[in-house]
Amino acid sequence: MKNFICKTCGTQYPESDVPPARCLICEDERQYVGINGQQWTTLEELRGQHRNLIKTEEPNLIGIGAEPAFAIGQRALLVQSPHGNILWDCLAIIDDEMIKTVKEMGGVSAIAISHPHYYSTMVEWSRAFDNAPIYLHAGDREWVMRPDSAVQFWEGATFSLQEGATLVHCGGHFAGSSVLHWAAGAEGRGVLLTGDTINVVMDRRYVSFMYSFPNLVPLPARAVQRIVEAVEPFAYDRLYSAWFDKVVFTDAKAAVRRSAERYINAIR
Ligand SMILES: [Zn+2]
Ligand SMILES: [Zn+2]
Repeated sequence: MKNFICKTCGTQYPESDVPPARCLICEDERQYVGINGQQWTTLEELRGQHRNLIKTEEPNLIGIGAEPAFAIGQRALLVQSPHGNILWDCLAIIDDEMIKTVKEMGGVSAIAISHPHYYSTMVEWSRAFDNAPIYLHAGDREWVMRPDSAVQFWEGATFSLQEGATLVHCGGHFAGSSVLHWAAGAEGRGVLLTGDTINVVMDRRYVSFMYSFPNLVPLPARAVQRIVEAVEPFAYDRLYSAWFDKVVFTDAKAAVRRSAERYINAIR
């Protein structure tokens, strides 16, 4: 029995003898089946081909991304906190070396994931760190491909993970798309970790919002407005989206506002 992983999106499925017939995440219109058809791998196979790169983004914020990149290619972020570390978003590759390194950094007390594209091998990560709870927004319940008792669904507009760390429901890209507000980040000016919910673009004075990134399907104006309104009550100066270097270093709140305005003007 194996837990097969989709090569295009990095999602891990429940144990089976043969690979699943299809990947529901990739068959969704926000994703795509790879050009050579549906392909599968396993964690054992991936461990021989990839390792994880660790990079300090700022004090107490560690980026973790696969090298070479795998599937969607996102990097996760480890928030180091005196109340227990939080793993924000997730990635498929996890090995003994990575687990040892993260344990030396204080381990993982909670996992929170922005949306289904990064659920990946979340159950493996949870098990590696004493069955750390995995917080997912209930709006995306149907997209959990490998159910597990560690998964805890949260509902409503916000959810406090611990003092100074709040999950904020935004919607848009997925019904349950959310971000993590980290009050102590950016030397206390506040940080927003956004996954694909708010995406930093090449001109890092701006962000963008999409229903589908690979298939270039925009969001309607009301959905973009809703995202901006959801994060408006929070103080933040810096914003990290889902890839290394996709960061608005300063004045991020103004960047979100002006990006939404530009976006809505463009689709109007
Ligand atoms: Zn897939
Ligand atoms: Zn996504």
